[in-house]
Amino acid sequence: MKNADQYRFDEAEAVVSGLWSGLSQHTEQNHKNKKFTHFLIPPNASGPIHIGNALMVALQDILTRYYHAQGFATIWVPGLDHGGYETQVTYEREQEQKGETRLRHEYPSDELYTNIESFVEKHKETITRQIERLGARIDWQHLRHTLDDVALVSAQKMFEKMVEDGLIYREPYMVHYCPHCETMLADIELKQVEFETPLYEIVCQIQNSPETVSLYTTEPEFMFSVTHVLVHPEDTRFAQLIGTVLVNPVTQKPIEIVPSARKLSWHQEQEHLVPLFQSHVRYDYEYAIRHDILARDIFAWDGTFSVQYPGQEPTVVRQEVIHTLQQSGVVVQQVGSVTDTHLYCKKGHKTNTLIRLSWFLNVDDERMSLRQKALEALQNDSLTITPSWRKKGLVQWIEKMHDWPIARQNVWGVRIPVWYKIDDPQKFVVWFFNANKERISGRLDELLEQGYTLDNIIAGLQRVYAESDCMWVLSPETGGQYLPETDTFDTWFSSGAWSVFVYDHLAKDDQKPSDTVVIGHDLLRLCIAREIMLGVYLTGRLPFKKVYFHPLLQAADGQKMSKSAGNAIDLNAYIEKYGADVTRAAIVAHLTTMDDFVFSDEHVYQTQKFIEALWDLCGVYQLLFEYNVPPANQKCDVDNTKVAAMAWDVGGSIRKHYFAQAQATTQKFLTQLQTQAQAIINGDFEHAPSAFIDNFKKYLTVLHPFMPIVTEYIYQELPDTTGLLAQATWPKRTHASKKRAARKDDKSALRDILKQL
Ligand SMILES: [Zn+2]
Repeated sequence: MKNADQYRFDEAEAVVSGLWSGLSQHTEQNHKNKKFTHFLIPPNASGPIHIGNALMVALQDILTRYYHAQGFATIWVPGLDHGGYETQVTYEREQEQKGETRLRHEYPSDELYTNIESFVEKHKETITRQIERLGARIDWQHLRHTLDDVALVSAQKMFEKMVEDGLIYREPYMVHYCPHCETMLADIELKQVEFETPLYEIVCQIQNSPETVSLYTTEPEFMFSVTHVLVHPEDTRFAQLIGTVLVNPVTQKPIEIVPSARKLSWHQEQEHLVPLFQSHVRYDYEYAIRHDILARDIFAWDGTFSVQYPGQEPTVVRQEVIHTLQQSGVVVQQVGSVTDTHLYCKKGHKTNTLIRLSWFLNVDDERMSLRQKALEALQNDSLTITPSWRKKGLVQWIEKMHDWPIARQNVWGVRIPVWYKIDDPQKFVVWFFNANKERISGRLDELLEQGYTLDNIIAGLQRVYAESDCMWVLSPETGGQYLPETDTFDTWFSSGAWSVFVYDHLAKDDQKPSDTVVIGHDLLRLCIAREIMLGVYLTGRLPFKKVYFHPLLQAADGQKMSKSAGNAIDLNAYIEKYGADVTRAAIVAHLTTMDDFVFSDEHVYQTQKFIEALWDLCGVYQLLFEYNVPPANQKCDVDNTKVAAMAWDVGGSIRKHYFAQAQATTQKFLTQLQTQAQAIINGDFEHAPSAFIDNFKKYLTVLHPFMPIVTEYIYQELPDTTGLLAQATWPKRTHASKKRAARKDDKSALRDILKQL
């Protein structure tokens, strides 16, 4: 029976998905010797995956199908990331759109957790369906989630090991904090926004002298915290001022002008003399702690000042500060404006800095340096990185990695498994919901005096802040009084050894380094550098053999696509309109360079045309059998060296991760088959049919990793095939030699029909 005139991808997808159900379980049992193991970098289960995520799925599927055809047992472990803060933000945005006005801290923790959990559950299903729809040959029976029971135990064990190794500490540190979302934020979670702001000159008196020196700032409300001004000794404009002591016009306390250890070029970029804001600017804070300059905690949790102007917001007091200074005779004047930056959280709130106790991972402990171990492993083991020049960046990043602040104030995450011993209730601040679901906060001793019991507080506990000398333990002793830590791990920490944890549920034999990790280059620092560091720490070896950093598919505005940024191209729309094969092949076709790219529909149309041509050839194939040219099952003399050479070429490109090149080579070969079909149409029934039949089947095998559904569907349509194309073997470089005799019946009728194709 001749195929339908038009290829229907929706029909093909339905048929093929039925054929493939249970495929992965089957194949693993069949291959024992060679294994190709890898995992999907878990997408955040906070919304449908977008077209950028589909790139990663497509590339890994190409690898899986190729290695399977090469006789490997393939294990491709799917995973989903709970996403921590990012998921919480996405969830909240959805709630806002539904008219919900409550902020995260207005929910009891368990209620919020349950809400986010069902939100994630819904998206887990969506993502699973999307990956299935893309035709991925992924092993669903191994599906993992970064909050599943195995993962929770693994993350907690890793933390406990770090505690035992003395790598975890709790210290004050300046962190970025969103007073609205009530959470600390990592640097990379912050969005910089530039804005024009007035620049003020503040004239300061030199101590015991009638002379003055002008300091310049955009934030006069922070003058009270200024104790130092840095001047580079080689900065001829100001060097003579080193050693001078000014009088702080707000506090009347001294401001020392001290020699700076910063680069001269940094100072030369400053037009004026600027104060060191070590108590609220992170860059200055880090300078201060390295140079023994005292930094003070000047903010309350709600973003207002805790000192000098307690309870007031910085921007609100600005005019008051200027006015008061002017009243007391200090010259304060606006001298133009400059561009400054503010840091915002993902929800668009302005953040501020807090100096608070937080949990840290020491990455360079003198007894056990995680950094050193990682660098040594990178030097000794052979890790192949594509593109190779990214290795340098990876090494440099590990070399300068700072201690890692690993705690977040999110509900949605893995709780830090620590308990504080309550030896002095004064040292604790708690936030909790009482029996009437009212949010209460305050010092623990005062709340206990008000009649709340510790059990009341723990039952509705939302957050704990413990002072520095509070004792903490991993497992509380029976009979003692403890408060659990309420912070959760930074999701990059709890999933930071995912390349190890992801195989924890497999047989010991399969718990080995991944063969290849496919990941966007934007995750080099956040993910790969940390995976290497933690993987080496836990297992003593690199957690993967090859890393392929793929370019990023950008949104139309040139920005990175992300669910939380809301600028992603809808994958489902493409699959619905063009089918999975066209969508994935069109994305892969963009990878001709390693540059980030904006998705172009041009590749979609080209792939559509290609599939139409392929479908026509399927029609030719079927007609040959319909008219018994050649008779089925008859061996033939075929020149298949070209298709075998092409297969060899394509295999080499896939192994080297030249995915677009491999796909293009395969697609280009279609013209060879079209030529053979043309020869048949032109009347060559002696050799052309047998060559065509043999080559076409081999061709489908090579094309299969790139367009798995259409190739499987066509393979099933061919009258002389059995089994699945997904189980077929990659063509070998051999010559067919057996003779065949073609039947010559019905030639003229066939020729007429073929001409109409
Ligand atoms: Zn916020």
